[in-house]
Amino acid sequence: MKMKFALVNGQKMEPQPGLKGTCTYCQRNMTAKCGPVRIWHWAHKSKCSCDPWWENETDWHRTWKNHFPTEWQEIIHIDSATGEKHIADIKTANGLVVEFQHSAIQPTEIQSREVFYKNMVWVVDGTRLKKDYPRFSKGFSCLRPIPTVQGFFLLAFPEECFPKSWLKSSVPVYFDFQGIYPVDQQERIRSPLWCLFPGRVEGHALVAGVSRKQFIELASTDSHLLLARDILNNLSQLIRLQRQNAAAQQTRAAYPRYVRRRSHGF
Ligand SMILES: [Zn+2]
Repeated sequence: MKMKFALVNGQKMEPQPGLKGTCTYCQRNMTAKCGPVRIWHWAHKSKCSCDPWWENETDWHRTWKNHFPTEWQEIIHIDSATGEKHIADIKTANGLVVEFQHSAIQPTEIQSREVFYKNMVWVVDGTRLKKDYPRFSKGFSCLRPIPTVQGFFLLAFPEECFPKSWLKSSVPVYFDFQGIYPVDQQERIRSPLWCLFPGRVEGHALVAGVSRKQFIELASTDSHLLLARDILNNLSQLIRLQRQNAAAQQTRAAYPRYVRRRSHGF
């Protein structure tokens, strides 16, 4: 298990050559691995199970984590009722957990983590599988912009844009199709994070595009899960109103023709 932090004399520290520490989760000894190839990390001395949910760190994880303050990174979250504990990638001062998911993950495990952390969002590495971005860029034309709500879209068939395993998530899922690589101007669609919100609005999935900067600000300052629920409620109302208005306009448009026809009769 590779980690960015271990405890050295009771202090959370990043690896340095020759440093020895203990795991913040299982308290076993860890060695600083500071080789020329892999990103510097801490590793357990002996193979141990430690946190079964922990994913070995990649450059992608490390880059994302580094956008947040050190004191929010690799935080042990404990369920006070059951004593179950896991290491969250990021847990903000507001208690929002951000999990960066690179590897394949079963829908049952997605669900377990959402139940455990409750107030969380996912950031999914959309560059690991070759087909994820082509699917999204092809499905992009199916995103219907919501008038007056910039950056938000409705999507009738979310499977046309996003990987199946994430469609039933109960929290916002942000897809990162760019990763840590630069993209050229032709690939504008690739740069924002694309958020698939939980729940459906009038049978449609709600999708939003946000810049990395916006996401980091939002995650750092807001309790995001509540925000998602508010957005969904507000948008449902807005869309219902827009539909009612459109229907009313059609009726109004039809009426004068009817009157005109009648007046010709005289
Ligand atoms: Zn450990």
